[in-house]
Amino acid sequence: MSRVLVIGCGGVASVAIQKCCQVSDVFTELCIASRTKSKCDALAEKLKGKTATKVTTAQVDADQVDQVIALIKSYKPDLVMNIALPYQDLTIMDACLACGVNYMDTANYEPEDTDDPQWRAIYEKRCKEEGFSAYFDYSWQWAYKEKFEKAGLTALLGCGFDPGVTQAYCAYAQKHEFDTIDTIDILDCNGGDHGYAFATNFNPEVNLREVSAPGSYWENGHWVEIPAMSIKREYDFDQVGEKDMYLLHHEEIESLAKNIPGVKRIRFFMTFGQSYLDHMRCLEDVGMLSTTPINFEGHEIVPIKFLKALLPDPASLGPRTKGKTNIGCIFTGKKDGKDKTYYIYNVCDHQACYREVGSQAISYTTGVPAMCGALMLLTGKWTTPGVHTVEEFDPDPFLDALDKHGLPRSESHDPALVK
Ligand code: NDP
Repeated sequence: MSRVLVIGCGGVASVAIQKCCQVSDVFTELCIASRTKSKCDALAEKLKGKTATKVTTAQVDADQVDQVIALIKSYKPDLVMNIALPYQDLTIMDACLACGVNYMDTANYEPEDTDDPQWRAIYEKRCKEEGFSAYFDYSWQWAYKEKFEKAGLTALLGCGFDPGVTQAYCAYAQKHEFDTIDTIDILDCNGGDHGYAFATNFNPEVNLREVSAPGSYWENGHWVEIPAMSIKREYDFDQVGEKDMYLLHHEEIESLAKNIPGVKRIRFFMTFGQSYLDHMRCLEDVGMLSTTPINFEGHEIVPIKFLKALLPDPASLGPRTKGKTNIGCIFTGKKDGKDKTYYIYNVCDHQACYREVGSQAISYTTGVPAMCGALMLLTGKWTTPGVHTVEEFDPDPFLDALDKHGLPRSESHDPALVK
């Protein structure tokens, strides 16, 4: 029996909300709150008569701490699920602390305006000290650790698929398969085809920033940074086939390097088709990925926001996307003194997701883990106060919940390794 406030009503949130409504004995009451209330109302209408969960809606600008505090005070939830954008992480965490409520999200903080001089000074210092230049990192949210501990509250960070399930796979490998893990390769393959020459599978702004940034990986205790898309490998994915994949920086590398003792190397690869890469490179070359406002015929325009307005809405890709995703982790290490390899992954079918919740697999593979993470917090399985990433908790009940709610695991004890 619990009341949950979900902030955001985009592609990922609408899957998470529909999945919460399939588990009405835990999610008894749910409020959908977002910037555009009409989207929340439309989803509530779609759910009418299909769930025992009592669904209400509200309008909130989550950039404004006071508005989030007022909403939490009036709704009195047991948990706030932040499924808006990474830009709102800190304001929503502040509001949760002010009201004494547990918090969770699906992506770590990054600022909307990367030209903000105050943010930029801290960012440039971090780049020098840590050795990676992504706009996002955990330092901003880890800084809340003591405050959440003292308040006896839990903040669960990055509980989508990657970050999220990939870290649970690492905790599972550590708990059940290895005495020591030497290397982790996280492989994110989207074998889906939506028929457009260019479109992004989730929020274009967040997606394009991530993909066009330099890549990096963790090796022997430090970061190695490389030019964007400069390390390419091929891999033959179960139920998808052979794909090109590229090494990217990804947020879970940072927390795994802290939490998997003795790990020597962590890399993250994502598959991209040639058409996607050609379009992205061209858009970048002409300045369309810039977050710096320009003046156009008397109007201030942020190029990447303008591009977002032109691209297909990721939520509209559902009916067109065919094929499967395959996301998982390959490990090397030792068990009982012997060398060992292990691969744990999930395969998800775009069309099956569409039939179930009206979305493609990218939103589905993020929304289902968000619901399962909330389930862990609400049913007392994950309770440690403080600010935590997924690998810090017991992976077993979480992976069991994913198996049951649409993202079952597959395993191989003799996988092909990535060169
Ligand atoms: P969308 O752009 O589809 O949805 C974002 C939602 O947040 C919209 O409903 C939007 O409202 C709302 N929103 C934006 N700003 C505010 C604000 N100031 N106040 C209140 N609501 C706001 O994004 P996605 O659903 O694709 O992504 C959601 C999150 O999931 C992102 O943080 C993304 O990075 C993360 N993600 C994580 C993955 C993982 O595996 N861990 C994978 C994919 C995504 P409006 O309708 O008004 O725009």
